[in-house]
Amino acid sequence: MIRLEQIHKTYHNGSPLHVLKGIDLEVEKGEMVSIMGASGSGKSTLLNILGILDDYDSGNYYLNNMLIKNLSETKAAEYRNRMIGFVFQSFNLISFKNAMENVALPLYYQNVSRKKRNMLAMEYLEKMGLREHAFHLPSELSGGQKQRIAIARALIAQPQIILADEPTGALDSKTSLEVMDLLKEVNNEGMTLVIVTHERDIAVRTNKIIHIKDGIIDSTEILK
Ligand code: ADP
Ligand code: MG
Repeated sequence: MIRLEQIHKTYHNGSPLHVLKGIDLEVEKGEMVSIMGASGSGKSTLLNILGILDDYDSGNYYLNNMLIKNLSETKAAEYRNRMIGFVFQSFNLISFKNAMENVALPLYYQNVSRKKRNMLAMEYLEKMGLREHAFHLPSELSGGQKQRIAIARALIAQPQIILADEPTGALDSKTSLEVMDLLKEVNNEGMTLVIVTHERDIAVRTNKIIHIKDGIIDSTEILK
């Protein structure tokens, strides 16, 4: 599903910062893996490259056997919309749109009719146990509910992979475990997931932990 070969990335705003120093990584279809490392170790940088949100300087990134390199903005957006679902720490919901509209949003970019997108959004909300909250604004929902809406939004376009950057980072520990249980269910249905976290409690709920340190993969821990 994902193959990275010797990925390097340096930021150039200010003095150059060499963040990724030769990352080799493979994620198979159906895996649920976590990427762990200290704050500033390059986890988000790596996830942004996987999500085609950012470029890399050298190496190769294959997604579904397709080389993701030097893409135009348009191509990058097309691949992203078609293949990748995102979940973020801060939920990134649109504050003036209700839960149903937030979930439906990725389908808007695929020119699906309003009626059809809202119908599908209701199905995904139902799966997340949030049907009765469909017409609520994000500000009327708890953190856990907001993250479940973000997960529904990530799923609705049936991506190949879901990338989650600290998905439990803004949640209390009980809600965090509920969100991890939900992501595990999504994985059990066949979805491939990559989850960035700096918390071991969260990482141990995935099947493989990739430890990143000083810009390289330090070790890989297989859990089951
Ligand atoms: P993590 O997610 O593991 O905390 P990041 O990938 O966000 O780490 O950041 C790695 C390093 O790169 C940090 O030192 C951070 O300050 C720096 N960094 C991240 N994004 C940028 C950017 N857009 N421009 C310059 N430096 C950045
Ligand atoms: Mg980060």
